[in-house]
Amino acid sequence: MKFAQEFRKALQREGFPQKWVDSAVPYGQLKKCLKKVTNELHELGLDKDTLTQLAASQKDPSTVAFYYHLDGAAANSKLFRPRLTFFVHIQDGVAVDAKLTPSTRDFLEKIASSTGKAQNITADESAQISAQIGPANFTEASGPFSPRHISPSEDEAVSIQRVEVPLVFDSEFFDILQTDVFNLDALQGEEQDKMGKEIMLLGQDINKATKPSKGRKARGDMETWRNIFELYLDARVFFSTRENDHGARTSPQAVKQLNWFQDQVLSRKLAYGLKLESSRKAYTRFLSVNALLLQILKFQEINSLAVTKILKKFDKRTSLGVSRVFPITVKSNHLLAGSVAKDLCAQMSNDLISVVPQLDDYLCPICFTVAYWPVRLDCQHIFCSRCLVKMSRKGESHCPLCRADVVMRASLENFDSKRASFLREYFPKEVKEKVRANERERNKEIFGPDYSDSLCSIM
Ligand SMILES: [Zn+2]
Ligand SMILES: [Zn+2]
Repeated sequence: MKFAQEFRKALQREGFPQKWVDSAVPYGQLKKCLKKVTNELHELGLDKDTLTQLAASQKDPSTVAFYYHLDGAAANSKLFRPRLTFFVHIQDGVAVDAKLTPSTRDFLEKIASSTGKAQNITADESAQISAQIGPANFTEASGPFSPRHISPSEDEAVSIQRVEVPLVFDSEFFDILQTDVFNLDALQGEEQDKMGKEIMLLGQDINKATKPSKGRKARGDMETWRNIFELYLDARVFFSTRENDHGARTSPQAVKQLNWFQDQVLSRKLAYGLKLESSRKAYTRFLSVNALLLQILKFQEINSLAVTKILKKFDKRTSLGVSRVFPITVKSNHLLAGSVAKDLCAQMSNDLISVVPQLDDYLCPICFTVAYWPVRLDCQHIFCSRCLVKMSRKGESHCPLCRADVVMRASLENFDSKRASFLREYFPKEVKEKVRANERERNKEIFGPDYSDSLCSIM
């Protein structure tokens, strides 16, 4: 299937909002315009083959150089203007470059002789061209350029003239494309803002609903949310921070990961486990946020693919080589930057997932169980009291994380009571288990290694 057709079908199939579809890349219009560009070039004797040949021969010092620029934004517009510039060897009004076809030569001579369009090039420019096509041809560059070593016979007066080729339809083409990229960028920024607000609100609602102080149901739901978010983080739906597949996901990958996540939630009956009405509603909203994120990602993908395709087509038809420079020149913050997934995922973990504290963030770095009782050393690192007691018994006085000499200085003052009550509130199960384990360990120290909990029941 041709891309134009594929693109149109994808826009229909995905059920994007009409507003999005209306601002999608006008691929068909661009294709028509590209036809006008190629016709225009053809009429000037600068058809694709000629340009390809000229580009290939630029390494040869005796031939013409040209380049196609996208920079030089117009004074009161964000839009840049494309410019096609030739550097032609002119001798007595005749273009002497052997590689030029008769019609191209004709055209360049004509345009060079008409005033204002052609100028002798400056030293700056000669350096620029040298950099582009190799230093050999411009060894004598200084002042208004008049090199001696470029013509086969050195005595003849040959000058290099800059000839700017006035094209109409390439400007039109890039106007359409740039305007559309700007509009799409704005639209995507708008959608991202909206989504960001929804993520924040959702986080606040879940936080409010599952405050442990609100009772048993709230505490139960908080556990469930924690499991849901743990699975969600595991799924790395839109962005992976793992080393082996680091980076943003493509939409098919995201769909796969999202399905995996939902299957897991279903098979573990987590969503059913939510007791509060507000929690269940929040879960539905959470799924909608993900579905919308997926839509944004898909829309961004196919539009940025359309831009790539049309630029490739442009290059294929003209040999002007813009597909590489356009994305850099146009400075797209969203569409071509492809950062949507990363941005929103960062927000998701900041504003949403963090409202339900995850155990991983509260583990003692020595024993990897919840850091309870929490002792905050002078270096601000927190460990469980048990591990610190063991360390000081062994005479280890340095913090295992930062090597500061702080362990022996720890006293009752370092007990973090605020953290302790936070842990009791948010991780009651883990705290209880840890207290029990601490007791077991202490009893073993007192009663010997054969001590076990069962002894208590016998007594
Ligand atoms: Zn510990
Ligand atoms: Zn430390």
